[in-house]
Amino acid sequence: MGSAIRLSGLIILLAMLFAPAGLRAQQMRPHSMLVLDQSDRRGPFYYQVFVGLRDAVSAHGHAPTTVYTESVDLNRFGGEAYQEDFRQFLQAKYRDRPIGVVVAVGAAALELALRWRPQLWPDTPIVFSLVEEADFKRMRPPAYVTGGIVSSKLSDAVTAARAVVPDLKTVVLVGADWERQVLFRNWKDQAAAGIPGLDIIEIIGRPMPEIVERVAALPDHSAIIYTGLYSDGKGNYYPPSDALAFVAARASRPIVIAAETFLEAGGIGGFAIVPSLIGADAARRALRILDGEAPESLPPSVIDAVKPIFNWRQMQHWNVSEANLPKGSEIRFREPTILERYRWRAVALVTALLVQTTLIAFLLHERFMRRKAEVESGNRLSDLAHINRQATAGELSSSIAHELNQPLGSILTNAETAELILGSPRPDLQEVREIISDIKRDDLRASEVIRRMRSLLKRAPFEKKDIDLNQTMREAFDFLKLQASARNVAIYLQTSPQTLRVKGDPVQLQQVILNLVVNSMDAMAKMPYGRTIIGRTELNGDASAVISICDSGPGIPQDSLNDIFDPFFTTKEQGMGVGLSIARTIVLAHSGQLWAENQSGGGAVFHLSLPLAA
Ligand code: ADP
Repeated sequence: MGSAIRLSGLIILLAMLFAPAGLRAQQMRPHSMLVLDQSDRRGPFYYQVFVGLRDAVSAHGHAPTTVYTESVDLNRFGGEAYQEDFRQFLQAKYRDRPIGVVVAVGAAALELALRWRPQLWPDTPIVFSLVEEADFKRMRPPAYVTGGIVSSKLSDAVTAARAVVPDLKTVVLVGADWERQVLFRNWKDQAAAGIPGLDIIEIIGRPMPEIVERVAALPDHSAIIYTGLYSDGKGNYYPPSDALAFVAARASRPIVIAAETFLEAGGIGGFAIVPSLIGADAARRALRILDGEAPESLPPSVIDAVKPIFNWRQMQHWNVSEANLPKGSEIRFREPTILERYRWRAVALVTALLVQTTLIAFLLHERFMRRKAEVESGNRLSDLAHINRQATAGELSSSIAHELNQPLGSILTNAETAELILGSPRPDLQEVREIISDIKRDDLRASEVIRRMRSLLKRAPFEKKDIDLNQTMREAFDFLKLQASARNVAIYLQTSPQTLRVKGDPVQLQQVILNLVVNSMDAMAKMPYGRTIIGRTELNGDASAVISICDSGPGIPQDSLNDIFDPFFTTKEQGMGVGLSIARTIVLAHSGQLWAENQSGGGAVFHLSLPLAA
C-alpha cells in the first residue's frame, strides 16, 4: 500500500519535470482574465466589444472564468505620470487576485500591457483585440501575445458611398486627427494616394462648430465618410457615436460609416466593423489559453469583423434603393409595413371578408336562382293566361263581331246617305259634314274594339306598373257590356270615389275580372230572368283595395267552395276548369287574395283584394 503511493507520487513528479514549460505554467494558471480597455468602456463601441467577450465567456461550458475589467481611458487621460499611477493602482488592486490571461482592447492598451507585464503579470499571456493591421506590424508583439487584427479599408467605405450615391463625384472625410484615430489611421495614406474619379474633401481634426457648418453645405453628388470624433475641440470629450449625432443633424448629404455603433447615430451604413465580433474573438483565444493551449499555437490573425450593414430609416430619407446595396447587406431598423404590423388582424379581416364574400356570393346565387324560377313560373303563367284569354276571346267572339258590325253598318249607311245628298242638285253641305263626323266617330269605335281585342290577346310578359284599379275595372266592364246584353244580363259597375293606385299588370288583372264576370254569366245562363252582375271597387282601410263581382245566380255549392280554385275543377259540360286557378295565380303574383262566398240573399260573390301602391 505504502509503496504504491510512493510510486504514483514519483510518476507525477516525473511528468511535471518533463512536461513543456507552457503547460507547467498552465497547470497553475488561474481561471481569470483581466480586460484592459484603452478607452472608456461605457462608450457604445467598447461596450459592444465587452458584450461580445462576455457572451463568449458565458457560452464557454467549462470551468467558470472570472472577468475583471479596467479602463485606462486614454482618450481623456494620458502622460507618463498617469500611466505609472495607474500601473501602481493595478498592482495594489490585484495584489491577491492572480490573472490567467490579460486581454488588451486597443493598440494603446496592448502597448501598456506589454510594458507593465514584467511587474504586474510575469509569465501571463496577453490577448489583444481591436488592433489595426498597420499598428500590429509596427508593434511586432512577442510570441506570448496573440489576438485578432482588424483591417479597415477606405476603398470599402468608397464602395458603400457609391452604392448610396450612384453618381458620386466627391467624398468628404469627417473625423478627428488621423493620429488620434484608432481604427482608421491608415486611411490617411489611402486618402493621400487619391481615389480615381473622385474628389476628396478632408474635414479632419477640425473643431465641431466648423465641422457642423461645413457638412451643412456640401456639393451635390457627394457623400460623407465618418471616421470618428472624440472631442469638440474645446476640451469636451465624448464617444464618437455621440459626435456623429451632431454631424448628422446638420449634414446635407448621407453619412457612410465604418463602425456598427455609428449606424443608429445617423449613419446610412457601410462596411462596418462589428465590435462584438472583435470581443468574441478575443474571448475565444483567451479561453483556449486558460484551457491549456499555448499562445504560440494561436498566432495573431486578421479577423473578419466587417459586415455591410445599412440603416433603413436613412435609406428612406436619402431615397436609396435596396437593390443598389452591396451583396449580402444587412438592413437594420426596417419599419414593418402596415400589413406586417397588423398581420394577424389583417389575416382575420381577410378571412372575415372571404367568408362574407362567399356568403354574399351564395345568397346572390340563391336569389338569382329564385328570380330565374320566378321568371320561369311567370312565363308559364303568362303562357297559360294567354291560352285562357284566347279561350275567353273565343267565347266573346260573337259579341265582338256584333260590336264591330254595328259601327261598320252605321258607316256604310252614313256613307250611302252622304252620296245621295251629294248627288242632289243642291247638296246640303252642312248635313254632309255631320254625316262625315258620324262616320269618323263610328270608325273610332270600331278601332277601339279592335284595340281592346288586341290588347286582350297580346302575349305579353308579366309586367307590373302603377295603375288605377277603377280604370282597369271600367275598361274590362266596357268590353263585357255587349256580351252581357247579348246574354241578357244586366251589368253594373260602382267604382270607389277615390283613385285606387296599385302596382299591377293591367292586362292580367282585366283577365281576372273577365273570367269572374263570364263565370257569373255562365252560372245564370239557365235562369229565365233576373240575371244581374254588379261590379264594385272600394278602399279597404288604407292598405288595400278590393274588387267584388256579385251575381244573382245559384251560388256555389257549399262543399265546392274550396275546390273551385283547383286546376281542372269544373261543373260545366264544356268547361276546362282553369279560369279560376289562373285568376288566383295572377292575384297571388300581385301579392293579393282572391276568394269566393255565397251571398245571404243568393248568388255568388268573388272578392279580389290588392295592396295599395306605397
Ligand atoms: P270553368 O269555368 O271552365 O268551369 P273555372 O275555374 O272558371 O272553370 O270555374 C270552376 C267552377 O267554379 C265552375 O265550373 C263552377 O262550378 C264554379 N263557379 C265559378 N264561378 C261561379 C259562380 N259565379 N257561381 C257559381 N259557380 C261558379
